[in-house]
Amino acid sequence: MRLVDHDLCSFCKTDSENILHVFYECQTVSNFWQKVENFINSHFDSNLRITKYSVMFGSDSNTHIVNHILLLAKRFIYISSLQQISPSFDRFLTSIKDICKIEQFIANKNNRYNDFEKKWKELPLTIL
Ligand SMILES: [Zn+2]
Repeated sequence: MRLVDHDLCSFCKTDSENILHVFYECQTVSNFWQKVENFINSHFDSNLRITKYSVMFGSDSNTHIVNHILLLAKRFIYISSLQQISPSFDRFLTSIKDICKIEQFIANKNNRYNDFEKKWKELPLTIL
């Protein structure tokens, strides 16, 4: 196990790293969330505002896929912090595409393609 001798944020290296900072308050993460918010609002019927609440608990006024993307974004931030690299929106988009392909494969295998299409239909094919 690798241990660091400081408590500084994995991204900005200036503030103390705690859950709220690393997932919401950090400027590096804030820039990432802004791109996620723009992506969601431009591809879904959504007027999402990224807040502390939506980051921590998801959005209660959005669809299943929007909350899934928020959850994937938090996982992506966590993995990026372990790797000590800034969360890149382009890499995040690639990871969404990979997860979509995995769910498509599983849906095909289990004869549940309609469920897959219902969930992912709002994303244009050019994205996926
Ligand atoms: Zn930070």
